[in-house]
Amino acid sequence: MSWRTDILTLFPGMFPGPLGESLAGRALEAGTWSLKVTDIRDFGLGRHRAVDDTPFGGGAGMVLRPDVVDQAIGAVADDRPLIFLTPRGAPLTQAKVRELADGPGAILVCGRFEGIDQRVIEARGGQEISIGDYVLSGGELPALVLLDAVIRLLPGVMGHAESGMEESFSEPLLEYPHYTRPALWDGRAVPEVLTQGNHAAIAEWRKRQSIAATQTRRPDLYAQYIATGAIAP
Ligand code: SAH
Repeated sequence: MSWRTDILTLFPGMFPGPLGESLAGRALEAGTWSLKVTDIRDFGLGRHRAVDDTPFGGGAGMVLRPDVVDQAIGAVADDRPLIFLTPRGAPLTQAKVRELADGPGAILVCGRFEGIDQRVIEARGGQEISIGDYVLSGGELPALVLLDAVIRLLPGVMGHAESGMEESFSEPLLEYPHYTRPALWDGRAVPEVLTQGNHAAIAEWRKRQSIAATQTRRPDLYAQYIATGAIAP
């Protein structure tokens, strides 16, 4: 069964965009996932197909109207999760990506301008998701980011079943560093343990590298890791 996504956007030409290439593109052709793009403008009002209006309370910019966005959602809504991409949302995590990949698909609503009238988000019971603490000009790139993260987890998309399991964030840890040939490059040798074929020693070295990198680079994740009780602080 295909993982189905509907995108609601004012810029349908941005899809599938980069997801038409490589792993995601092949999976799209193979029918592992499917994509339907709806132009919010099709539900715009009047001769000019207006989709936005000025903000109540004043301030710069325009806001997407709840009635227009609601009509667009109504045209595609079913039992799939409804997600609004917004910097006000819960940060996207690998756990959320995994949860979505295990479900039937998702309906993604891409904001523009200053955002979407809050009432339609509440009325439709949507989840609000952010891809990070910075502001983009629209929800299209965030939707592509979310989809890329989900699609690579769908059955059959990645080469090795386990390559999705070991990497960063499966535990609250960053991944260990990677090395390939040549063994000596530019005067720099690959860590010796990796060349000696002792799999237990390699696994232990990688785990220690993961923990050390997380501790120095991401104290926030390290605190989560300690809280799991996996090791003493
Ligand atoms: N005025 C808003 C920013 C609007 S940006 C604020 O300060 O919060 C316009 C649209 O881009 C948003 O409606 C949202 O859909 C999208 N967007 C921008 N940054 C995003 C992010 N970090 N994560 C998810 N969506 C984002």
